[in-house]
Amino acid sequence: MTRSALVTGGSRGIGLAIARELAAAGDNVAVTHRSGEPPEGLLGVSCDITDTAQVDAAFKRVEDEQGPVEVLVANAGITKDQLLALMSEDDFSSVLDTNLTGTFRVAKRAVKGMMRNRTGRIVLISSAVGMLGSAGQANYAASKAGLVGFGRSLARELGSRNITVNVVAPGFIDTDMTAELSEDRQAEIIKNVPLGRYGSTGEIAKTVRFLASPDAGYITGAVIPVDGGLGMGH
Ligand code: NDP
Repeated sequence: MTRSALVTGGSRGIGLAIARELAAAGDNVAVTHRSGEPPEGLLGVSCDITDTAQVDAAFKRVEDEQGPVEVLVANAGITKDQLLALMSEDDFSSVLDTNLTGTFRVAKRAVKGMMRNRTGRIVLISSAVGMLGSAGQANYAASKAGLVGFGRSLARELGSRNITVNVVAPGFIDTDMTAELSEDRQAEIIKNVPLGRYGSTGEIAKTVRFLASPDAGYITGAVIPVDGGLGMGH
């Protein structure tokens, strides 16, 4: 069964690993990218998810090239870390606009076709931080916690159309995003992870592949932590 899949922010990091994993499982996979070259072997569509017109154009391109999106992985996300007292309103709203409203934009566009076809898989990439909180990341944590309420509401709205909606909450994964942290901060983080290491992008990708597969047909509205035990199931 070859499906049409779209991974936002699939040009690098976790999104690229998810895209490659879905492609290896036999799906036709498109990834959004904002700049640079799209990854080899995947359909690259240029799209900034903060812009509704760009989201619509990206979906049209994917529909033309590989059919209506049957698997959506909303992965694109950013951080703009700052303590609340020093955080500008733009630091807050731009993170919400990308991580939460951006996910709203792509999910809304994707469900049109999924509802018509009465099938679909949506996976939202949240973060352990959404449940645990994180000093200096109030904007990011709020956006990632928001995805849980958003995803569970969609699971309720769309269940009767055979569309599942699940949330994956990664812990600390080895990517550009975490490479920005200082060595001291990285060591402190690892101390709190029972498995004592960072996760790999492949470990997130394999979980997403499962949730997107027919084997996960009775799972919806779930939040799946992939965090080395950091959140102890939350
Ligand atoms: P990276 O910073 O490596 O990659 C982020 C991706 O999102 C890039 O492909 C980037 O595109 C894309 N992106 C950012 N803003 C936009 C936008 N406005 N429109 C379209 N695409 C955009 O991040 P990771 O791979 O580490 O993270 C991926 C997801 O996983 C994020 O949602 C992140 O919050 C989440 N996560 C990551 C964790 C980690 O430890 N790394 C832990 C928990 C969650 P471009 O290349 O064009 O910049």
